[in-house]
Amino acid sequence: MAKKVENSKGFLVLEVSAIEVNECFGGYGICDYCNSDDRSGYYIAVLNSWYCPKCYKEWIQRAKRYAGDIHIEERNYNCACESLGL
Ligand SMILES: [Zn+2]
Repeated sequence: MAKKVENSKGFLVLEVSAIEVNECFGGYGICDYCNSDDRSGYYIAVLNSWYCPKCYKEWIQRAKRYAGDIHIEERNYNCACESLGL
């Protein structure tokens, strides 16, 4: 079951399994960054992307949250929650 992931930078992130990506987003559960297939991963609303745990960890360390992106992030996030039935 997908769930919200807290992070120190305040990004809207959901932990989503590859099966849920397939069932709810129609994707293949392949990391959008490194193309590896993993059983679990993270939906990053601001990027509208699904990352494997390793890429998510690297991304959250370097990512900066810009105020101008927040409305897009929230829109992506709400769409994802609706698709996942959250
Ligand atoms: Zn990856």
